[in-house]
Order: sequence, then C-alpha cells, then structure tokens
Amino acid sequence: MTYRNLSEEQRMMRESCRGFVDDVITPFIRQNWQREWSMTPEDRLPKEILEGADKIGIRTLGVPEEFGGIELDPKSEIRTFALISEEIARGDSGLADKLVQNWKVSVLLRNLAPRHLQEKWFKRLVEDPQFLLAHCLTEPRGASDRWLPYNVPEAAMQTRAVRKNGGWVINGRKQFISNGYDAGLYVVYANTNTKVGMLQGTSSFLAPRTTPGLTVARCNETLGCRFMNNGEIVFEDMFLPDDHLLVEDTALAKAGVYFRPGKIIQGAKNLGVGVRAFELTADYVQNYVQGGRILIKHQAVAVRLADMATRIEAVRALLERAAQAVDENAPEADMLTNMVKMFASEEIMKVAQNAVELHGGNGIMLDFGVEKVLRDAAVFMHMDATVDISRFKIVKAMFPDTAGKYAGPEA
Ligand SMILES: Cc1cc2nc3c(=O)[nH]c(=O)nc-3n(C[C@H](O)[C@H](O)[C@H](O)COP(=O)(O)OP(=O)(O)OC[C@H]3O[C@@H](n4cnc5c(N)ncnc54)[C@H](O)[C@@H]3O)c2cc1C
Repeated sequence: MTYRNLSEEQRMMRESCRGFVDDVITPFIRQNWQREWSMTPEDRLPKEILEGADKIGIRTLGVPEEFGGIELDPKSEIRTFALISEEIARGDSGLADKLVQNWKVSVLLRNLAPRHLQEKWFKRLVEDPQFLLAHCLTEPRGASDRWLPYNVPEAAMQTRAVRKNGGWVINGRKQFISNGYDAGLYVVYANTNTKVGMLQGTSSFLAPRTTPGLTVARCNETLGCRFMNNGEIVFEDMFLPDDHLLVEDTALAKAGVYFRPGKIIQGAKNLGVGVRAFELTADYVQNYVQGGRILIKHQAVAVRLADMATRIEAVRALLERAAQAVDENAPEADMLTNMVKMFASEEIMKVAQNAVELHGGNGIMLDFGVEKVLRDAAVFMHMDATVDISRFKIVKAMFPDTAGKYAGPEA
C-alpha cells in the first residue's frame, strides 16, 4: 500500500522509519511479548528504543531548528507527521504515542511559550532521548464536556489557578494523561474565571515535573498501547511564576495548534495498527493450511481480507485529505480532522477484529502476538474524544448556528 506524491524528504524519512520498525521494533516486540505486562512502568520499554528513535531523527520533530530540532517543510508538516506516526505505530502504537506527544506539545510550545522558556525546554528535550512532554486536560469529572465544549460555567474545569504574588497557585488533578507518568514537562489547563464559560475562562500553563506541589499520583494500566505510560497528576498549591502562563483565559480557543495536528496523528497511528493487522493476516492466510489448502483459498477468508484492505484504504484516503486540509489551513480542516479520527477508530477496530478471527485460536493467545492489534485498536476510540463526541463535533463544525448552540441557557 503506497502513498503517491511524496517529497524527497518524506520518502527518506519514511524509509528510515520503516527500517527502524522492521529491524528493531518488530523483533523486539516478538521476542519480548511479556515485557508490556511488567507492572513496573519504568521497565517496560528499554532506553535504547527511544535512543534509536533519536538516531533516525524522529524524536524532536516540531522543535524549531534554531533550538536543535528537526524542522519539516511547513507546507507539508502535518502530512509528514502522519506518514511517520503510521510507520511507527505499525511497529508499536504505544511507542508512537510516546513520540507524538513530544511533537504535538512542541508545536504548541513554539507557538505559545515565551522565547526564554522555549530555549530552556527545547534544549532539555533535544539533549535527553528519554525526555517526554505531556498535555493535561482531562479530569476525573469527565472530558467530553470540554471537547464539545459546553460553554457554560457549570461545565468548567475543576482544576483552578488563582493569581498570587507575581504568579499562579494551582490546585486540582488530571487523569488519563499520555506520558503523564514519565513526562519532564506538562502543559496544564485550569479554570481562571468561574463566572464565564470555559472558552473564556480556561488558561494554560507550563508545569515542570519538579515543581513543588506537583505529584505524579499513578500510572494507569491500559488495555493497549502499553509502552506509553498513561498517568494521573495532582496539584496541591503548586506555584508557577507568571512567565509560565501560556494563554490567559482563552487557552481552549488557542489550543487548535495542538488539536488539529493531534487528530491527524491519532488517525495515522490508528492506521498503522490496521496496516500491522493486515500484514500479519495476509502472511498467515497464505501459509497456514486448513482442509488441505492454505487459508486464502477458502473464499470466506479471501473476502474478509478484501474487507480489511478496503477499510484501510478508505481511512488512508480520508487521512490524506484531512492532513492536506490542515497543512493548507482550509476552512473544512476542523470537520475533516474529527471525521478521520472517528472514522479510523471504528474502521480499524473492524480490521483488527477480522485479523484476530482469521487467526482462529492463535488470534487469542498472548504469545502468538496478534491479539495486540485488537487491544491497541480499542484504545483509539477513547483518545482525543470518544466516538460519539467526535460525531457531535463534526455536526457542530458543519452547522454551528443550530447543532452548535443547544447547550447552555436559552437565548
Ligand atoms: C489512552 C488514553 C490516552 C489519553 N491521553 C490524554 C491526554 O494526553 N490528555 C488528556 O487531557 N486526556 C487524555 N485522555 C483522555 C481522553 O481524552 C478522554 O478519556 C476522552 O475524551 C473521554 O473522556 P472521559 O474519559 O472523561 O469520558 P466521559 O466524558 O465521562 O464520557 C463517558 C461516556 O459518556 C459519553 N458522553 C459524555 N458526555 C456526553 C454528552 N454531553 N453527550 C453525549 N455523550 C456524552 C461519552 O461519549 C462516553 O461514551 C486519554 C485517554 C486515553 C484512553
């Protein structure tokens, strides 16, 4: 399955990622299938894997060149993000999660952080292959209201930031955060005005892990994507100086620089899981014999394979269209990013189901390794908004004056 019209830069990056996945990641996963089940989160992924990602130049995408990062052609940056995320997720979607959080948050920082803090944190990120970034929005009282968003005070974030002594004091907690367990630097959203809707009363801050009052409370044990350590973070009277404020009051409206590429990357990682499911299955059905014939000779099997391939190509087509819309800042970009994120999660789940079914009993056995695609695929329906909330956002983007206005007090 190929992309057309790739630039030289994109082709080269894709090739080196493919080599990394085929030579390092896939053999590692096959030989160490128990490792993702270690209950010591720090021990799951060997340090050499992130070092390897660093060597092929995909760890610091999104970081400006002047701070030592790898800057992509801005005209096709998002499409390149998509290509690389798909390739890495084809190897392991948890590893892809770890890496892409760095790219997404770097894009946000280069747009919103003061220059001296960019200098400081990009330097740390570039120097240390294990350094990770995290983006903290979700709270125990639910994320969906914030995704919609229901722009009324009662749906506001419970994490609060209050101005004090030349800075801000933050109290609250965030849950389900990608890289939350390991990150060195967090972007944190908090309520700064309880009287207005969240679009007018949410601010964002930079919170270094070592800030007094910040505690990493737990690592969540997830169903899939287990090499990314998802975490919960608590803030108790955490003081941040004023320059650590990224956006005052209108942070959610300004977070599009994170969410637009973010949803493309979600769709692309999800596609990578589907491609892996297809590759494993295509190989199996052409080698495994039942009833005296290799499986693919049985028509019911062949038909399922066609179904898998068609769903994968449909996701890829929508993904390319959506990524291009984001690169071109097209008016329909928001709608398309939500469409591809939602569509990929449902279609690739069916691809993974077919993969597991075509492997029969082997499909269910941990040591065989195919069930992983089903577990990884299931996670995507819950990341960056649920399937239902994504559909809701699509309709809101299409009909802002009607579908977009039914929450909150009547006019
Ligand atoms: C692996 C993983 C990684 C994640 N990474 C991050 C991260 O890095 N940063 C971050 O901030 N968050 C992260 N999240 C959180 C994720 O964004 C939320 O889990 C997701 O948006 C759903 O929110 P919730 O879990 O609070 O569910 P809820 O909002 O409680 O929703 C529960 C159910 O109710 C439905 N529902 C809720 N409200 C409505 C409504 N108004 N109308 C219709 N249906 C509704 C939902 O669709 C869902 O089915 C991550 C989650 C996962 C699983």
